[in-house]
Amino acid sequence: MHLPMALPLPNIVLYGYLVKFVVGASLLILLFGSLCYCLIVTRRSKGACQDNGSASELSPNSSCRVFTFQEVQQATSNFQERFLIGNGGFGKVYKGKLENGTVVAVKRGKAQSKQGLTEFQNEIRLLSKLRHPHIVSLIGYCHEGVEMIIVYEYMANGPLSKWLYQPNEAPLSWKQRLEICIGAARGLHHLHTSTVEGIVHRDVKSANILLDGNFVAKVADFGISIKGSSPEESHVVISVKGTFGYIDPEYFRSSHLTEKSDVYSFGVVLIEVISGRPALDHSLPTEKISLASWALDSELNGELHAMIDPNLVRKVRVSSLEKVWGLAKMCLANNGIKRTPMGFVLCCLEDALHL
Ligand code: ATP
Repeated sequence: MHLPMALPLPNIVLYGYLVKFVVGASLLILLFGSLCYCLIVTRRSKGACQDNGSASELSPNSSCRVFTFQEVQQATSNFQERFLIGNGGFGKVYKGKLENGTVVAVKRGKAQSKQGLTEFQNEIRLLSKLRHPHIVSLIGYCHEGVEMIIVYEYMANGPLSKWLYQPNEAPLSWKQRLEICIGAARGLHHLHTSTVEGIVHRDVKSANILLDGNFVAKVADFGISIKGSSPEESHVVISVKGTFGYIDPEYFRSSHLTEKSDVYSFGVVLIEVISGRPALDHSLPTEKISLASWALDSELNGELHAMIDPNLVRKVRVSSLEKVWGLAKMCLANNGIKRTPMGFVLCCLEDALHL
């Protein structure tokens, strides 16, 4: 049998068209695919988090970055222990460095628990909308698989608590203490008043007041913060959350939460600043375990001088100290309505600084 050596001419033209069509279609598909990919990547890397509770959704009006897990690994040299700053309820915190040289704090959630996820989403949702010189800045987050990671600005001098009662730190002067309290009060005042409904921090304590390299104070840790704080529309929340030693007793009894619960906790911080001891100290006799109760009792017994930090004795103007003590008592009033708002706390602290 004889096979033809070449195809007849019309067939060659037909095959030519077929090849052109296949190549063209492939190019079009490739182009469309790349376009979709670019759109997704741009959307993921642009913004922050929406109010709908999902940390991986982004909102155009805020500016928090979505990191890949690989980027966070690179920033912390794969979470090396030597970069570990501390360990909190949510997980471990590492010092890291981004590709552009920015030093950051990286908080990595423990294995994915329901509670951890709720706090993670809450913190990102609230913090991504807050920009203030006395509120710790959110840089971004990573939510890949079980990984829940939050990236913050790095606060080189750590928490105020460390400087008040850890023996290896040099004691803060009264002026430094007042400036730190003023900074924290500004941050809290902004939280309570910058939106119509306000935000209650719900976990104000000296461990959540962080200090940058220049000892500028910034409020941190918004995992359990909640929107809606005006006294008229006070929030009723089912579960009482916060840290023992700082929780407003009225809120504890009634589950009624307003911004005045933050004022109470801030009052405890003021007494920590005056006394240089923690809000709770279980190594002390029962009547001294709670700092707030002990301080109030000391005044009733005429022994207020006993609670003043030895590092401050004879280094502070009595009038300034008295002003802050008077303010702390106003913050600790049993009834929230009688407690002074954060704006007034701020004014009193500024007065005390001038004294
Ligand atoms: P809790 O979980 O009860 O709130 P905590 O406040 O100590 O306890 P984290 O907020 O997880 O827990 O902080 C753990 C440690 O990391 C603390 O020593 C804290 O000061 C430190 N830290 C947290 N954020 C930063 C930051 N942005 N810069 C520097 N250090 C930080």
